[in-house]
Amino acid sequence: MTKKVAFIGLGNMGSGMAINLVKGGFNVHAYDLSQTALANAKKGGCTISETADEAVIDSDYVISMLPNGAIVENLFIGDSTTNGLINNIPKNALIIDCSTIAPENSRRVGIAAKAAGIRFVDAPVSGGVAAANAGTLAFMVGGEEADFTSSQSVLNTMGANVFHAGDLGAGQTAKICNNMLLAIHMAGTAEALQLGVDNGLDPVVLSDIMLKSSGCNWSLEKYNPMPGVMPTVPSSNNYQGGFMVDLMLKDLGLAMEASINSRSSIPMGSTARNLFNLHKNSSGEEQGTKDFSSIQRFYSKTSGI
Ligand code: NAD
Repeated sequence: MTKKVAFIGLGNMGSGMAINLVKGGFNVHAYDLSQTALANAKKGGCTISETADEAVIDSDYVISMLPNGAIVENLFIGDSTTNGLINNIPKNALIIDCSTIAPENSRRVGIAAKAAGIRFVDAPVSGGVAAANAGTLAFMVGGEEADFTSSQSVLNTMGANVFHAGDLGAGQTAKICNNMLLAIHMAGTAEALQLGVDNGLDPVVLSDIMLKSSGCNWSLEKYNPMPGVMPTVPSSNNYQGGFMVDLMLKDLGLAMEASINSRSSIPMGSTARNLFNLHKNSSGEEQGTKDFSSIQRFYSKTSGI
């Protein structure tokens, strides 16, 4: 029988994900606060719901792709003024929250869902809007083994790689670690490229050399931050599209919180967070909405040359 999915949050990421589920044969009922997002989802074959409560009626899966942890907790658990959605989700349905939020938010929602007889996994993603549209996201799942197994059919329809990271909240922890490392190697790559350029090197030649040397890394290989080196990445398109500085700052903030909770030292991660924050605030032009590889501008702007 066709499985019913309630999909909540059809923004930049969620819309492509929901439409891939429709293409994969799921019966998708969409809800978002934005009418534009709903209109896009309708075009992609989703059934539009007037409320989140309506979307979850008879659902087998409830997927959320929302901006932050407060919104996710408020939606599912509610507060003194609103009734949480878990009161209306069918017993034994599986909530798959794909938003990037703190592991504590995921644990609180997962525990409340379990108390209401509903299953929950956190399943944040790696890969941006292009991967969401292409159905090639990587999912990092936290939760019980059986719930991870139940999530596979849906997640494999939206992604190319699905990992079980561990217990509830572990998906979020994996995502936070990955993005902290991404910020560090992107900033390091921009720094090295600027040093070379300031000392007379051609960034294309320097990139070629480092790609075949021990400095090779994902940012250099797939996402070169220096304009003109790779024609199809955001740096060659005025840093438009891609993964916004504001979202990277959100993820680095989550890394800081995690390090405080575990008393881990993250000197490189906190330096990266400071760099991206300085970059966002120090340029005349608003950088928060630019792709995160625009950190190159921070280095070119502060160069002594
Ligand atoms: P977005 O702002 O484009 O979309 C969020 C959507 O949620 C919006 O359409 C908004 O109207 C809707 N929304 C907000 N509150 C709601 C509520 N209470 N009920 C229903 N709908 C509500 O954000 P996005 O870029 O799609 O990101 C979503 C999540 O994915 C975030 O947690 C982000 O960190 C994560 N993420 C984003 C990217 C990326 O490249 N954009 C990559 C990986 C992970």
